[in-house]
Amino acid sequence: MKIHHVGLAVESLSSSVPVFEKLLGKGPESEEDVADQKVRVAVFRLGESRLELLEGTCEDSPITQFISKRGQGIHHLALAVPDLREALRKLEKDGLRLIDREPRVGAGKERIAFLYPASTAGVLIELMEEA
Ligand code: ZN
Repeated sequence: MKIHHVGLAVESLSSSVPVFEKLLGKGPESEEDVADQKVRVAVFRLGESRLELLEGTCEDSPITQFISKRGQGIHHLALAVPDLREALRKLEKDGLRLIDREPRVGAGKERIAFLYPASTAGVLIELMEEA
């Protein structure tokens, strides 16, 4: 298991992307809409990991709602697993609460699933199986 990416909730990609370009010394490797999650995402690659800047695309986007409650900042931590279905089965058996009991498709077309932060020390965890 490894950290695949950290998701950051931002109010606006057009104002946040230039900040991270200065910080990291390079531009994002991609920018795309993920309709399923109602976000637009800019991805900065950092070695084996990535930073994903997430902007909500509508009022009922989870990112827009997160920012209105808690402000901008770290939204979730994504862990890569070799077999997502197997990981979900095991974690549920171990008492963790799953938001997604079945994998769904995330940015970059990987299969992903989220866990309830109430069962993971307050941190929203995304599990993903790399395509
Ligand atoms: Zn993510």
